[in-house]
This record gives sequence, structure tokens and C-alpha cells, in this order.
Amino acid sequence: MLFETVNPGEVIVNTTRVIKLNPVDPWDLSRAEREGRKQAYELIQFFRKYCAGFSNAILESTGVQIGVRESRRIIGDYILTQEDLLQSRYFEDTVALGGYPIDIHNPAGAKTETTHLKPGQYYYIPLLSLIVKGFENLLVCGRCMSATHEAGAAIRVTPIAMGVGQAAGTAAGLAAVEGTSVRNVEISKIHCALEKMGATIR
Ligand SMILES: Cc1cc2nc3c(=O)[nH]c(=O)nc-3n(C[C@H](O)[C@H](O)[C@H](O)COP(=O)(O)OP(=O)(O)OC[C@H]3O[C@@H](n4cnc5c(N)ncnc54)[C@H](O)[C@@H]3O)c2cc1C
Repeated sequence: MLFETVNPGEVIVNTTRVIKLNPVDPWDLSRAEREGRKQAYELIQFFRKYCAGFSNAILESTGVQIGVRESRRIIGDYILTQEDLLQSRYFEDTVALGGYPIDIHNPAGAKTETTHLKPGQYYYIPLLSLIVKGFENLLVCGRCMSATHEAGAAIRVTPIAMGVGQAAGTAAGLAAVEGTSVRNVEISKIHCALEKMGATIR
């Protein structure tokens, strides 16, 4: 898959795939990194040889580190599920919305399975899925938030991670100002602060 960048004649190639390695094992992570770079090198050869317009292409850069779609996630006060997303289950403590499909890149190497939402459909992400279970004042956001494998395959994407991160930061900031735990901040205050900043949460 090619993404054009703002620089004329430059594309990002979203094509390498490294599977069946454990991202929480440092040796596997190094193996993955080497494999990813090997694939990038093979791809540039392929592009130069077979793709029109790429005969003089150069490999300008690669990710500084191997990217990992999924590894450990926290268990929060609520674990977001596939059903929550597909049924657009509403939560009173919604702090972010998402609309990305459930996009499972099978870790065993089989094909990608994508479950799309209906046109115009979106889902709700509750604050409780950011609050770490058993801790008074600890939030985790982005790809590591509390979700099942399936729900995580949707909410991990960058725009949603940004929305959830903004919500976590806002909740933490309000808790700090009030000198209390995030669990004690009134949800209406978090909603009000997020909406003032232009966040869409309804
Ligand atoms: C191959 C691949 C393709 C993808 N394609 C897309 C796509 O096309 N569109 C899309 O929207 N999403 C895509 N994603 C998903 C998306 O990129 C990630 O899920 C998302 O970036 C996760 O955001 P995050 O903030 O949770 O984590 P990250 O973006 O990984 O941010 C975590 C940050 O914490 C830093 N960090 C780690 N440890 C420490 C520490 N001890 N101290 C300080 N900083 C630390 C890291 O350096 C990093 O900058 C893709 C992911 C992969 C792996």
C-alpha cells in the first residue's frame, strides 16, 4: 500500500510484515527489527525492477524501530469489547469516539480480517477502560488501553489513540487541579473540558 507524502515524488510504503515473534521478548524484537529491514531492502529492489516510475527510486528512510500492533494491554475497570463497538454501546463516561473497523492482522500469518461498521456508525470509548483496575490513580491510554484483542484491533489506530490520549490527559489534569483521584472527578467536568477543546464525544 502506498501513501503519498507532502514531498512530490515521495511515497510511504506500508507493506512489510513480520509475524510469529514475541514483541515482549528482546531477542525476538531484535529478530523482528532485522527481518523488517530485510523486507524493506527487498521491496526497494522489487519496486525498481517491476514498478513503473520507480526505476530510480531510493529507500530514503525506514521506521527507527519495528512497529508493534499488539502486545500487552492493561486490564482496566472496564474491558472494551467487539460487541461494544459493533453495537455502538453508549457509556455515560464516554471520553472519545472511534469509527475505525475491527482490523485483525492475524498474528498466525493468515489473512487480515476486517469487520466494518455500518456507514456513519461510530463507537464510544469509556473512561473506565483507561483506568487501571486495582489502582487509585493510574490511567493508560493508546494501544495499551483495556480492550479485548478484537476491540484493540480497532481502537489502536493513531487518530483514536490521540483522542483517548487527550481524554486521559484531561482527566489527569482535572484530578491534579482538584487534588483528587481521577476516579473522583465528575464526568461532566471532563466532558465540558474536552468539548471546550473541540473534542467530539457525543
Ligand atoms: C505496521 C503498523 C502499521 C500501522 N498502520 C496504521 C495506520 O495506517 N493508521 C493508523 O492510524 N494506525 C496504524 N497503526 C497503529 C498505530 O500506529 C499504533 O497503534 C499507535 O501509534 C499507538 O499509539 P500509542 O500512543 O499507544 O503508542 P506509540 O505511538 O507507540 O507511542 C508510545 C511512545 O512512547 C515512547 N516510549 C516508550 N517507552 C518509553 C519510556 N520508557 N519513556 C518515554 N517514552 C517511552 C515510544 O518511544 C513512543 O513514542 C499501525 C501500527 C503498525 C505496527
